[in-house]
Amino acid sequence: MAPASAPTAATRVALHTLRDWRSWPDSLASLWRRSLRFRTILITLALTALAIVVACIWMALAIQNDLFQARKDQVLADSQRATEAAQGILDAAAPQGDSARLQSLMNLVGTELTQQSTSDLIRTFRIDRSTSQIAPQDITTGLGEDIISDELRDTVRADDTRQWWQSVSLPTEDGDVPGIVVGQQLNVPDVGGYELYLAYDLDSASQTLGFVHTTLWVVGIGLVLLIGAISWFVLRSVTTPIGEAADTSAKLAAGELGVRLPVRGEDELATLGRSFNAMADSIESQIKELADLSLVQQRFVSDVSHELRTPLTTIRLAADMINDQRADFDPSTARAAELLNAQVQRFETLLTDLLEISRYDAGSVQLELEPTSLAHLAADVIGSMQQLAEQHGTDVRLVAPGGYSPVEMDPRRIRRIVRNLLGNAIEHGEGRPIVVTVDSDQQAVALGVRDYGLGIKPDDLERVFDRFWRADPSRTRTIGGTGLGLSIALGDARLHGGELALWSEVGRGSHFVLTLPRDLASERTGTRLTAPSPIPADPGDDAVAAIDALGLTQPIEVIDVAAARAASRDAERAGGGS
Ligand code: ADP
Repeated sequence: MAPASAPTAATRVALHTLRDWRSWPDSLASLWRRSLRFRTILITLALTALAIVVACIWMALAIQNDLFQARKDQVLADSQRATEAAQGILDAAAPQGDSARLQSLMNLVGTELTQQSTSDLIRTFRIDRSTSQIAPQDITTGLGEDIISDELRDTVRADDTRQWWQSVSLPTEDGDVPGIVVGQQLNVPDVGGYELYLAYDLDSASQTLGFVHTTLWVVGIGLVLLIGAISWFVLRSVTTPIGEAADTSAKLAAGELGVRLPVRGEDELATLGRSFNAMADSIESQIKELADLSLVQQRFVSDVSHELRTPLTTIRLAADMINDQRADFDPSTARAAELLNAQVQRFETLLTDLLEISRYDAGSVQLELEPTSLAHLAADVIGSMQQLAEQHGTDVRLVAPGGYSPVEMDPRRIRRIVRNLLGNAIEHGEGRPIVVTVDSDQQAVALGVRDYGLGIKPDDLERVFDRFWRADPSRTRTIGGTGLGLSIALGDARLHGGELALWSEVGRGSHFVLTLPRDLASERTGTRLTAPSPIPADPGDDAVAAIDALGLTQPIEVIDVAAARAASRDAERAGGGS
């Protein structure tokens, strides 16, 4: 177990992300895109929070309304009771216009109002504004005149039968509190109507409302968190198996055919797991069958090639002998002997190539490495093919600014690649000059073979490295290609951890570039060449640049492909007719 103080890699990454707050928006956006669980939880939380906020606001408003209504009813009943009691006292009295009696009657009414109602904020106004000698003074118990609006007073003055009320804010020591003022008329004998106002605060209702608000908030937030946690657990039980299925499919796709999904229970996920495993079983068995079949085919090709070798050697000796004596034969027999010899030679090349290919397929190819200078090797091959080049009227030039220092390679195989590339260039170069370039950098050595021949059609570019593929099999062949040359060359290059790149344009010719890593050890560890080759495959507009290399007096022109093809067909027809 790791010590508690040592943070794991995941924790370190999380901490780093937390500290680097500028990357939060990006991290969240990528989490949103990549994690089904995160996305679903976020959507669930957002929708739940919205629903809960709407429900809470609705409940708060309903409760507030209800509380206010109840308090209002209570206040109106209280005020009605007190007013009736006060009016009862006034009606029972007979002050007989005596101002002192009226004043004490009014004081009694004030005491009665205070006792009968729960309000201690009481105020009266005489309705008749004219001066009177006998009218008692207004009751003013704590309720300021400014709190009662003119509107309410007008309404109360206008109607002596009903109660009127209005919401107000009452000033207290702790600030303003919401309240209700209830107004009604009192009839004082001998004097006339008085406006009576009683004010009540809604403090208790506000407190209850505050408590309800707090409870709603706490319950709402608690619910959101609870639903978030529940969705996280529920989602985990669904997304974990989906994640496992995704990982397992990725492994299967990467070639790990033995991986299977764990199957638990009998629900839909278990069905998915079983179907997946059945699919994996079927793929594995089919691939195994195909591999067995391909192994049988490889063995067959290898065995046939081996078996053919012995009789072919005998045929070859006989053909050589007959060919040597062709001078003694009549012309048609001599021609037949020549043809026999050429075809036997081709047969032998084909057989050698087939054997090589079957060795690649069997994975039994071993490199015989020795330090070799690619520039010297290229010069060697060019020398050995000089005669063929001359036959085609082709001028082959070597331009080697680098690549002299020896590099570990299998010289026999690299020589074979260069010979093949050069042979193809001579074959398809239309007698135009060929430039062989050798160069190197710190990582790699490279050799390019550039011809200015007909080039390869874009559709065919992909296929030139295919086995037995030839662009135009009917073309006259001088070195008897088998269609296996480039496929073997690519195999050899890759065996060295190198690459064989191709650029070609119809009418402008082709450029094959072989790149080999300087450090073969890196190839052994499975790393391929990633840096660009010292010789880029695309030669750019090198027709002019080649003038210097070739010592020409004029740039190389682009070939008129149609005309060249027509000319070659005419030549073939003329040859066939003779
Ligand atoms: P082959 O033995 O026929 O030369 P390769 O595998 O070497 O087989 O080449 C496959 C085909 O690629 C050739 O038949 C030819 O059509 C085409 N090809 C190869 N090199 C060139 C080139 N330099 N220019 C044009 N076509 C080429």
